Amino acid sequence: MSEKKRSISALKNGTVIDHIKNENTFKILQILNLKDEHLMIGTNLKSKKLGKKGIIKVADKELSKEELNKVSFVAPKATIALIKDYDVKKKFEIDFPKEFVGVAKCGNYNCITNNEPVETHFFTLSQDPIIVKCKYCEKVFSNELEII
Ligand SMILES: [Zn+2]
Repeated sequence: MSEKKRSISALKNGTVIDHIKNENTFKILQILNLKDEHLMIGTNLKSKKLGKKGIIKVADKELSKEELNKVSFVAPKATIALIKDYDVKKKFEIDFPKEFVGVAKCGNYNCITNNEPVETHFFTLSQDPIIVKCKYCEKVFSNELEII
């Protein structure tokens, strides 16, 4: 009995988002607006880093920097692998940004970004746990913010 048996089938071309906190797996699909893409999703997988993790494989897609920023907000420990012809072409840990622009809604209803056409802008105070500060109203939030 091989322990190395793959739990999710291989991807020919596309992106693998690994080490997602288990409960945030489906949130990633939502924020990346993945509907028409061919997806392979695994949840409740064992992980030394996270206990239980989720993994998403998206066929024929590379994530933009903007999309990676959104992913990092929900899965700050994620690793990204680009697959070409069943081979890992590039693999990297997600780069947690120092600033998030236009990624999440400010949780303060009185904030200018909720009342005027101003793009939201947060500064990162901490990555784990995620703590960000709104540039405009200066309120501090953890990652309960709604992703745009
Ligand atoms: Zn604000």
